[in-house]
Amino acid sequence: MNKEMIIDAHAHIFPDKIALKASEGISLFYEMPVVYDGKRDTLFEAGGNAGISHFVVQSVATAPEQVSSINHFIAEQVRRYPDKLTGLGTLHPHSSDIDRDFNELLSLELKGIKLHPDFQKFRIDDPEALAVYERAEGILPILIHSGDFRYDYSHPSRLERVLKTFPKLTVIAAHFGGWSEWPAAMKHLAETDVYVDTSSSLYEISPEKASEMIRLFGSEHVLFGTDFPMWDYADERKRFDRIDLDESARRRILYENAARVFSIVL
Ligand SMILES: [Zn+2]
Repeated sequence: MNKEMIIDAHAHIFPDKIALKASEGISLFYEMPVVYDGKRDTLFEAGGNAGISHFVVQSVATAPEQVSSINHFIAEQVRRYPDKLTGLGTLHPHSSDIDRDFNELLSLELKGIKLHPDFQKFRIDDPEALAVYERAEGILPILIHSGDFRYDYSHPSRLERVLKTFPKLTVIAAHFGGWSEWPAAMKHLAETDVYVDTSSSLYEISPEKASEMIRLFGSEHVLFGTDFPMWDYADERKRFDRIDLDESARRRILYENAARVFSIVL
């Protein structure tokens, strides 16, 4: 492994035609400015300039009918840029045929599943969502958006229940386990085997708090991610570099954990 390799484990890309609109949609939902347009080439340029060598790309289907075309889009991007991209597929718990969607995702050789309970309007522990975890357990990791003070769908306490029900399920709870609900994330997830990522968090939590959370979850359970197109890449790198970490913990978070969890071989 090249010592300088960095994986961004949480990046969203969209087809060029709809990328700007999709980015504006995210901006509206979170009531925050979004820095980039969500195009793959923009990701490569901005991420590359910030020293990122590989990206775990994903997109969320807000309706079940979108699942297949989004998964084909992500898979096509990975086929074109296998050295730079690892793809996660989307599933929608309200789909009429989860087996069909799951099998297609597998056949497209996507390396995990991205879920967003607040966009997709399901509770993390709804029965329809459990059907997704049943299929994924032991087969594919799930990167799930966790936490939103405005909604109940993705509350960390719901994720805690799921983790206890599916002990062999690999889950990465985005945004340090609970966007805008970090105390709840620490309370409900610290005792679990969950992974967390650093995305859309470091703008708000202090370097001291971040290092406390990394100690709590364990540096072998934290992945560097930016939530592209949300934040300026250079700023995110700077914020991460302010966290007090020894070199081996830094390497785990910036590269090794993501490579292991998503089976990335470079
Ligand atoms: Zn995301």
